[in-house]
Amino acid sequence: MLSLDTFAQGKLDALDEAALRRRLVPTERGPEAAAERGGRRLVSFSCNDYLGLSHHPRVIAAAQDAAARYGAGSGGSRLVTGNHPLLGALEERLARHKGKAAALVFGSGYMANLGITPALAGRGDLVLLDELSHACMWAGARLSGARVATFRHNDVGDLARVLDAERAAHSRCLILTERVFSMDGDRAPMGDILGLAERHDAWTLVDDAHGLGVAEEGPRAPLEMGTLSKSLGSYGGYLCASRPVIDLLTSRARSFVYTTGLPPASAAAALEALAILEAEPARRARPLMLARRFTARLGLPEAESAVVPVLVGEAEAALALSRTLEEAGFLVVAIRPPTVPPGTARLRVAFSAAHDTAQVDALAERIAALTGR
Ligand SMILES: *Cc1c(COP(=O)(O)O)cnc(C)c1O
Repeated sequence: MLSLDTFAQGKLDALDEAALRRRLVPTERGPEAAAERGGRRLVSFSCNDYLGLSHHPRVIAAAQDAAARYGAGSGGSRLVTGNHPLLGALEERLARHKGKAAALVFGSGYMANLGITPALAGRGDLVLLDELSHACMWAGARLSGARVATFRHNDVGDLARVLDAERAAHSRCLILTERVFSMDGDRAPMGDILGLAERHDAWTLVDDAHGLGVAEEGPRAPLEMGTLSKSLGSYGGYLCASRPVIDLLTSRARSFVYTTGLPPASAAAALEALAILEAEPARRARPLMLARRFTARLGLPEAESAVVPVLVGEAEAALALSRTLEEAGFLVVAIRPPTVPPGTARLRVAFSAAHDTAQVDALAERIAALTGR
C-alpha cells in the first residue's frame, strides 16, 4: 500500500474508534420538509431551509428562468466576465434588507468568512472570536495572520476582560460572533457587544447564517455577513457593510477576487426568496413558534431561534439516538466533536416553516420516550 493510503487508513481507523467518522448518505429532499433515504420517506428536522423556500414554486421558477436565459454557470470571476446584473440586483436588495449602504455576494458563506477577516486585519492586529464561532470564522481569523484570541461564549464580561488585556497592544481589532449560534441556537448579546466594541475602537463582524428572516431583530453590526443557502434556500454568501468597506473587499477579499461568480440561477433564486421572505411575516414567525412548541413539550429552555440542541453527551449515544429516530421516520442529525466541544454531542433539531405542528409534536413525543424526559 502507498504510504499515503496507509496514512489515510490509519486516520480513518482512529475516527471509527472514536465514533467520529463521517459518511455521506444519499438523501433526496422534497417539498414540505420531506427527505427520502434508502427508499423510505422521512420528515427532515436536519435542514437549514428554515422558511421552506428551497422548494417554493416561485423560487424554483426564478432559478429555471435564469439558467435558461443566462446559462448554467457564470463564466468567470466577477471582476472578469462573471458579474451578471442579477448579482448587482441581489446585492442592492440584501443591503436594503440589512439597512446598509452596500453588499457583496460571495461563492458561499464559508468563502465570505475566508475573505472578509484577512482583508481587514493582519499582522499586528487582534481578532477576538466567541469560542463557539463557526469553523469558517476561525479559518478566516487564522488566515489573516492577526493574533487570534477567544472570549467565553456570549460572555460580555469576558470579552471586556480580553479587550482590556490585549486591545492596546494591537493596531486594529475585529470581534467575531454569530447572531444565532449554529449548534446551540442561542443568540449573541449584540447590543452589549457593539457597545464594548465602540468603546475599544473594535469592529464587529456578525455571522447571521441562522438569523436571517427567522431571528434577526436587534442592533446591526458594521459588518453583517451571512449565507444565501439557509433561510433563502439557494446557495452563496454575502457581506453587507458601508460603501468603502464593500469597495475594499471587492478589490482585496481573495476568496472573492480569485473565484468564479455565483451561477445566475443561484442569484435569481436568492433574489426571489428574499422578496418572499420580506413579504410574508407569518412565514418568518413560524420556525421560532414551532421550536418553542417543541422546547415547551420537552421541558427544554425556551428556543431563541429555529435551532434547538438536545444534548446527549457522548458521540456514540448521539449517533444511536439519531439512528433510532430515523427508524421512526425522522431525520435528526447527530452533531459530534470537533463541530461541538467533546462531551457535548447532541441532536440538532432544526425547525422550518414547512413543518406542521403534528410533525413537531410527534417528534417531541418520540424524543421524550427515548430520553426519559
Ligand atoms: C452554514 C454556515 C456558514 C457557511 O455558509 P455556507 O453558505 O453554507 O458556506 C457560515 N457560518 C455559519 C454560522 C454557518 O452556520
